[in-house]
Amino acid sequence: MADENNQPTKKCPSCQKDIPAGAKKCPYCQSDLRTWFRRHPILTVLGGLVIFFVVVSIGGSSKEGEQEAATPKTETETPKAQETPTEVNLREFLNEFDNNQLAAEEKWSGKLIEFTGTVSNISGSSSSPYVSFESESDEFLGASVTCRTLKDTSQAVSLENRQRVTVSGVVKGQSLGTVVINDCVFK
Ligand SMILES: [Zn+2]
Repeated sequence: MADENNQPTKKCPSCQKDIPAGAKKCPYCQSDLRTWFRRHPILTVLGGLVIFFVVVSIGGSSKEGEQEAATPKTETETPKAQETPTEVNLREFLNEFDNNQLAAEEKWSGKLIEFTGTVSNISGSSSSPYVSFESESDEFLGASVTCRTLKDTSQAVSLENRQRVTVSGVVKGQSLGTVVINDCVFK
């Protein structure tokens, strides 16, 4: 005969009697000894799924927020170079330098301009040609303009003195009566 006292026992939380440890139901008071989750498996699974989707959606939305916050940064990281030149009247432009060189340099240095002028001198070398323009300043021996660097040096070969050309370039500043323009492109 099996001795029931050798089996592991526990106390029923409802009636405090000793019952088999693995019992799912108290044999004395019939109270259900399983946990709430074991008694409600469908609710447990549904609850788990709800928690799972809530966590996933919070994680997903926070990632989207990070991406949205990162996008404007990359847009502002690339400052746009001035692409459209400011058209200037060469005579008015040179008068500004003759009237006040400091003010004119403050206004124009680093600016991309486009002007039309008459070529007065082509010098330098084929690898680094200079192209100077006739002064159109109102002053006698007023300021003139020189293209000190050309974007495409081969353009200098096709120019002639007295030729009227439109040119764009970046203003460097005035030196010895000449307003230096760099990165010149002849049209
Ligand atoms: Zn009981």
